[in-house]
Amino acid sequence: MPAPDRYAVIGHPIAHSRSPQIHALFAQQTRQNMIYTAIDVAPQDLASRVGEFFAAGGRGLNVTVPHKEAVIALTSSLSARARTAGAANTIMRDAQGRLTADNTDGAGLVRDLTHNLRIAVNAQRLLLLGAGGAARGVLAPLLQLQPRELLIANRSVDRALALANAFGSLGPVRGCGFAELDGLNFDLIVNATAASLQSDLPPLPPSVLGAATICYDLVYANSDTRFTHWAREHGAAQAHMGLGMLVEQAAETFYLWRGVRPDTEPVLSVLAAQSRH
Ligand code: NAP
Repeated sequence: MPAPDRYAVIGHPIAHSRSPQIHALFAQQTRQNMIYTAIDVAPQDLASRVGEFFAAGGRGLNVTVPHKEAVIALTSSLSARARTAGAANTIMRDAQGRLTADNTDGAGLVRDLTHNLRIAVNAQRLLLLGAGGAARGVLAPLLQLQPRELLIANRSVDRALALANAFGSLGPVRGCGFAELDGLNFDLIVNATAASLQSDLPPLPPSVLGAATICYDLVYANSDTRFTHWAREHGAAQAHMGLGMLVEQAAETFYLWRGVRPDTEPVLSVLAAQSRH
């Protein structure tokens, strides 16, 4: 058997990453001869470590915090998704050794929402919390689903306004601060802030939740995040965490790299079961 093709995820920190396990399960399921490791890369070493990885024959990289924006400068071409997001989570090397950057985060969220969870976005009133890299990455794919309105609320209001302005040509999107949410109500609330990572909660008025409101936190944890806990306590119809998005963005990346689309359902089941223990 030839040597396995090499892939990795780079980030800082990276020890917590579940991507090696997800890609190992995909490779096993689709019988791909590959290995996938996690490499801790400090920001000052990004260019040299990416260069070394591909010079040594590496085939592709996943890129996570804090490198998603900086890595773009190291590639020679960008997919439309990465250009729109201004960030990349996937790097591919072609036969000539050229590197292309792509972003599968938005596709992963949309697939989890619409396929796995069967949540309708079309004609719905959407609230997106946060205006950082993750919010930017999911904005265009969400707008493609044609919500009735998409309001971006962020702690730093100017970032929400700038993001809404940048994506205004793609759909009915506006920006605001959390204080302006009082009295407003939404069908779907997507938390793309990093607040849950710090066990924090954006200051949301309970009015944003109705009996049919669905909440989704991009952050995932073994039990509820502060946001999904708050949503359940205040009567949201459903509250989900971003494990499905993680598995789905990985599947989209795997397809780009290997030309084979893995079945995500059994992989998500394995990860969800581990989270419960
Ligand atoms: P980022 O670029 O650093 O942006 C962080 C965002 O969170 C900003 O909007 C920031 O507001 C806001 N924020 C941070 N702490 C907050 C707090 N205590 N209260 C309210 N707002 C707060 O980070 P990112 O790359 O967008 O990532 C955001 C989250 O998405 C991360 O937790 C990441 O784990 C998650 N994510 C998950 C997946 C998945 O597959 N499930 C994929 C991508 C990202 P300011 O602008 O005011 O600072």
